[in-house]
Amino acid sequence: MATETGTETSTTEGNGTPQATAETLEVRNPADGSVTETVTVDGPARVRDVVARVRAAQPEWEALGPRGRYRWLGRWRDWMIDNQDRIVDVMQSETGKVRADASLEPPIVCNFINYYGENAERLLADEESTPHFPLLRTKRLKIVYRPFPVVGVIGPWNYPLILSVGDAVPALAAGCAVVIKPSEFTPLSAMEMVRAWREDVGGPDVLGVVNGIGETGQALVDEVDFVQFTGSERTGKRVMARAAETLTPVSLELGGKDPLIVLSDADVRRAAKAAAFGAMMNSGQTCLSVERVYVEDPVYDEFMRRLTEEVRKLRQGADGRSFGSDVGAMVSPNQTEIVERHVADALERGASALTGGGRREGPGDYYEPTILTGVDHSMAVMREETFGPVAAVMRVRDEEEAIRLANDTRYGLAATVFSRDPKRAERVARRLEVGTVNLNDVLINYAIPEVPMGGWKSSGIGYRNGPDGIRKYCRRESLVISRLARSAGEPTWFPYTPRKRRAIRAATRFFNARDWRRRLGRR
Ligand code: NAD
Repeated sequence: MATETGTETSTTEGNGTPQATAETLEVRNPADGSVTETVTVDGPARVRDVVARVRAAQPEWEALGPRGRYRWLGRWRDWMIDNQDRIVDVMQSETGKVRADASLEPPIVCNFINYYGENAERLLADEESTPHFPLLRTKRLKIVYRPFPVVGVIGPWNYPLILSVGDAVPALAAGCAVVIKPSEFTPLSAMEMVRAWREDVGGPDVLGVVNGIGETGQALVDEVDFVQFTGSERTGKRVMARAAETLTPVSLELGGKDPLIVLSDADVRRAAKAAAFGAMMNSGQTCLSVERVYVEDPVYDEFMRRLTEEVRKLRQGADGRSFGSDVGAMVSPNQTEIVERHVADALERGASALTGGGRREGPGDYYEPTILTGVDHSMAVMREETFGPVAAVMRVRDEEEAIRLANDTRYGLAATVFSRDPKRAERVARRLEVGTVNLNDVLINYAIPEVPMGGWKSSGIGYRNGPDGIRKYCRRESLVISRLARSAGEPTWFPYTPRKRRAIRAATRFFNARDWRRRLGRR
């Protein structure tokens, strides 16, 4: 992409920030450390231009209606299905994901396109009603969903497609134009998707991408009408503070410290496999990753034996297109340092590593799948987001202790409960302070667009998916339509007279009261 030169200063936070100058960013493949590509940084002036360009095309896009927009989005879906290998190759080259993890993303985005494409008309249909108050029944009411003209989507590095393009899909389906700012670590997947929309699909000019770090992100927040942000709690707060200056609404999907609870009547074999998958999939770099595990005493020993067996079997390393590996690289070197710090802190304070416990020898940036026991809530690994292939497990006395510990966190993204008794599992789920609970399954909610996903507490504000996943990209316009368009006036209008006011008072008293004594004005 073209850039504005000379307007940007480099933003450097932490040792692992990509090599950034005023003009360029180096994208590396964490599987071997090689430079994949150098991309141009977009300064504030360039961001303004891109937003202005898509803003100009948005009214025509909105006018196409849900069906017209789905025709374009459907062509994009078809391109994705036909070019899956190409997209996955690009993604692996900037994330070091194993093939299976990277291959999950295109189908999820296709599913989002189909869900919102096929349901937008229903979800955004005018809501018609009449007032419940009898004296106002001469009005017809309509709630109309009108899209925010331009939505800015700011994404993280752990899922470069679903957390950039995936969030753009419902906004486009709603009739908005979208500008994506992908993570500085992983801009290539979103760039390729935007290129395909423009060049291969020939889609309307309502989708753009800008690259850079904090300054580019801030400039986007300044220019757009709604911000969809996914990333860390720290940056989320900055985005919200910046958006406050222009009173721009935000939706924030932030970090998590998700618990998995194994109750005494669980299918322990399934629970152990789920814990291994939930904690290690995508090298533990999933906002919904299982980070803490609480196991009821009677099944603890069997669970630990099975979990250790599962994790020892995992193959780690780059697998190209072969699907021959289970656990890939750490995407950001900053994150590997955080994982090292949390595990070292736990080990120093008396925890034990049943597997892993350190970085793997290079090439590439890999952290060994690690199971920790002997942990407690004084340790960073039980309190802060670790975001690596680490499962920290605690034995608990009973259900009550599991719930108390699961809720003992400032995060509230999601949780998992295992029990053969569906009523018991649901009883526990309803007491957890999180936005989503998977019962006898793990991580799966993200792939199901029908259910809202949002963080409670420090895990975010707002929801993606579900009906609000598309409605949030719209402003509500209420139409209050009088059926008495030809009458000379309304009883409440001027002039006020004692007779009219007495009549109104008696009538409002009559219709507001819910007992006859008051209705008839008797004390
Ligand atoms: P991050 O906060 O460092 O960066 C996220 C994005 O914000 C990047 O594109 C970055 O360039 C941009 N940015 C940085 N400074 C900015 C500023 N001042 N203004 C605007 N934008 C700015 O997050 P990350 O390290 O890329 O991602 C990992 C985090 O994301 C983890 O905490 C993880 O839990 C979270 N996450 C949450 C969800 C969810 O749905 N809740 C999903 C995936 C990841």
